[in-house]
Amino acid sequence: MEVKVLEKNDTNIRLLIRDADVPFVNALRRIVTSEVPSMAVEEVVVIENSSVLQDEVIAHRLGLMPLKTDLKTYNLPEECECKSEFGCAQCRVTLTLDAEAKEGTRTVYSGELVSENPDVVPVSSKIPLMKLAKEQKLKLEAYARLGKGKNHAKWQPVSMCAYKYYPKITVVAKRCDACGECVEVCPRKVLTRTENKIVVKDLLACILCQDCTNACPQKPTAIEVGWEENSFIFNLESTGALSPDKIMIEAVKILENQLKGLEGQIKVKKSEEN
Ligand code: SF4
Ligand code: SF4
Ligand SMILES: [Zn+2]
Repeated sequence: MEVKVLEKNDTNIRLLIRDADVPFVNALRRIVTSEVPSMAVEEVVVIENSSVLQDEVIAHRLGLMPLKTDLKTYNLPEECECKSEFGCAQCRVTLTLDAEAKEGTRTVYSGELVSENPDVVPVSSKIPLMKLAKEQKLKLEAYARLGKGKNHAKWQPVSMCAYKYYPKITVVAKRCDACGECVEVCPRKVLTRTENKIVVKDLLACILCQDCTNACPQKPTAIEVGWEENSFIFNLESTGALSPDKIMIEAVKILENQLKGLEGQIKVKKSEEN
């Protein structure tokens, strides 16, 4: 298998994966969305709330706020030695909020939460949590834990993770009269016309929608869109909880462990049969 990084920044990664198959790439996608852990608020103790929002609504909003995650320092609650319902310093982070509207109506932002660990804080300080009218107060303690997307979407470390086949576009020169219909209709501006020829200018942007082949007036069509069977473009966008490459590395580690577990089970079964 060959993996090439096509694009990478603080929140996105785009990979070209060659010599792989759909079950493998899809397993990676599913692990990214449901098995790679991240931090999220799991419990909230409301000490004072004189706002118009119910405690439950505030707790829900806090739960969906992405938190920077430190996988080295913290354990998943089910794997922590404390075995405590309330958690311990190795499986829980406390964030406190003490907000009041003294002057007039104001917005409470995520940046007002004070975390006991400066490495586990909201990914942005500008997430609006709620509004307080004059003299209203909100005081609470929120407890964040590691969790997995398969249990609640708030623990998904990604806002998007998807893959598609690597596109293959062929323009048959002898049938193409360069009418430009395909260029006009393409929603991703993949094609362009230069010197009475149709040229593919951004192959990776193609979403294989076939609008260009449907628009081509030639019979049979002068443009053919297909894909390479064993090549994929894999794309993910992090919520900011973990870096995109960290998410990929964790996903690969988890897949490897799952496969080792499966191998172990097959061996046990075989030895039982013998
Ligand atoms: S298949 Fe769709 S996206 Fe790809 S080149 Fe044709 S019209 Fe554009
Ligand atoms: S629509 Fe068909 S004939 Fe017209 S430019 Fe595109 S490929 Fe050529
Ligand atoms: Zn613990």
